Amino acid sequence: MINVFPKMYNDELLYSVIARYRRMCGLINKGAVIEDFYGRRQGMFQMLFPLHLNKLSSMIPLGNKITGEKLLLEHTMYPFYTKFLSEQISYSIKDSMLNKTNVSIMVKTCLNSRNVSVNKYLKYCPICVAEDKKTLGESYWRREHQFTGVFFCSKHMVQLQESKVMMRKINNQYVCPDDIKITNVSSINEEYKKYNLKYISLVKELIGADEKRLELFDINRFYRFKLYEIGLATKCGIIYNKKLFDRFSKFYPRGYLYLLKSSLGDDAENSWLCKFFSNKHNKSIVKHLLLLQFLRSSISEMFDKAENVEFKKSNYKKQIQVSKLDLNERKKEWMKIIHDNPDSLRCELRNINKAVYSYIYKYDRDWYHEVTPKNVKRNKGASIDWNKRDAEFLEKVKAAVNNIKNRSGKPVRISVGSIKRETGIEKKLDNIKLVKTRKYIETVVESKEEYLIRKIEWGITEILGNGETISKNKIRKKCVLNCYRTGKTKKFINDVIDTELDNINGISKPIEKNLYVSESLL
Ligand SMILES: [Zn+2]
Repeated sequence: MINVFPKMYNDELLYSVIARYRRMCGLINKGAVIEDFYGRRQGMFQMLFPLHLNKLSSMIPLGNKITGEKLLLEHTMYPFYTKFLSEQISYSIKDSMLNKTNVSIMVKTCLNSRNVSVNKYLKYCPICVAEDKKTLGESYWRREHQFTGVFFCSKHMVQLQESKVMMRKINNQYVCPDDIKITNVSSINEEYKKYNLKYISLVKELIGADEKRLELFDINRFYRFKLYEIGLATKCGIIYNKKLFDRFSKFYPRGYLYLLKSSLGDDAENSWLCKFFSNKHNKSIVKHLLLLQFLRSSISEMFDKAENVEFKKSNYKKQIQVSKLDLNERKKEWMKIIHDNPDSLRCELRNINKAVYSYIYKYDRDWYHEVTPKNVKRNKGASIDWNKRDAEFLEKVKAAVNNIKNRSGKPVRISVGSIKRETGIEKKLDNIKLVKTRKYIETVVESKEEYLIRKIEWGITEILGNGETISKNKIRKKCVLNCYRTGKTKKFINDVIDTELDNINGISKPIEKNLYVSESLL
C-alpha cells in the first residue's frame, strides 16, 4: 500500500498520474515507482495498455473509490482502441489489463495489427499546459490528445505539440509535461482544422462510450444502410463503389487524408475505401471515424441502430440478364475441372480457371456451393501416392529446368519460383515427401551470383554474335545490370565482366563466384 496518491485529473492518462506520483514522492529510481504499485520491480507498465490494474488500484489509498475498471475506462486508451472490436476480443483485452501481469496474445495482436497506428510521442497543447500551471500549479498528459489522428486541441483550437516522450512500448521514464520544453510549432494546414475538430468530436464520443460492442457484420450493415440513405448503395445494401469513391474523394482534401495515413490513391477498386466493407478483418479506427464523419453519423447512432438495420431481400440476381447458354457452358467447364482434379481444394480449383469460377460465383452462387466439394482437411499420405507424385513432378521439373536454360533471349534465373511457373504445378514443390524432386531442385537452383555470371556470358555472346565491338557499358546495358549501383553485387559484376573480357583477350583467370557470396545476397 502506498500512502499518498495524486488526485487524478479529468481525462488524465494513467501514465501521467504515475509520473506525477513519482515527482510528488521525489523518487529518482524509476524502478522504485513500479515497485510501489505492483510490489515487484518489473516493467509491467505500458503506456497504451497498462496491465494488472486491479492490483494497482488495490495499492492506492482510496482503493475503494478508484477501481481497476475506473482506471481502465477513464484513464487508459482502452475505450478508443477496442470500441470497434467484438465483445469477445474487447473482453479479453480488458481482462488482461485488469488482471494479468503479462501481455496476452490478444493485446499483442491488437497492438501489432497493421490497423492500429499509434503515435510515436506523447502530445500536448501549449495553452492547456500554461493554463494548468496557473490554475492547478502543474500540468498533466491528456488522453484526448494522444489518440491517433488527433492534431488539434479541441478547447483552444491550436495545433498539438509533439514531446520527446516515447509512447510506444514500455516507457518507465515517467516524465511530466512540466518537465519538458514547451514548443509552439504550427505546421499543419489551417484548412484541415475544421475536419480534424469534427474527427475529435467522434474521438470524444468513443472515450465516453459505454461498453457495448458490435460484431463486424453489424457495423458493416450499418454503413451500408447509411450509404443507402445518401444514394450510395441500393435498397438491398449493395454499394456503388465508384460513386462512393468519388464522393469521398471530394469530401476530404487529399492532404488531410494523407495526414491521417488514409490516402485513397487514384484507383477506386484498389482503394482501402472499397475494400472496407468486408466482414473479414477488423478495420482501422481512424478509417472508421473518417467514414462516420463522411456519413455525418456518430458513434451513438451506429451503436443504437446497427443491430436493427434490415435490408430488402436482394433481387440482385433477377435484375441481371445472364445468358443461359453462357452460364450452362461455364457450368459444364466447372464440372470438368472438379472431375479432373479430385484432390484439389476449392482455392486450387478456382485458380485453374478463374474466369469460369468468377462467372459462376457471380451468377449462380448456390449452384457453385452445391456442386463444389467442400474443403476437407486432407488426410495426407493416405490418399496420395507420394512416390508416384514425386516421380511425376521430378520429370516435369527436369523438363522445366531444361526449357528455362535453353530458352532464347535474356536468361531467366533458375529458382523455385521460375521452375514452378514453368511446370504449371499448382502444388507446393517443397513438400517434405517429394524427396527426389526437392533434391533435384536444390542442385539446380542458381544463386544470385551464378545467375549473374550466366547472364553476363549470355550478353557477351550476343554482342559478339552480332559482330559488334564489346565494352563494359554495352554488357551492362544488354544484361540490364545498371540497377546494381552500390555494394558487393556491383563489385561482383565488375569483376565478372573484367574476367570475361580478360578471357576474351587471352588472359585466362577463373571466376571465383563464392568469394563474394554474402548472406545478404542469398
Ligand atoms: Zn488546449
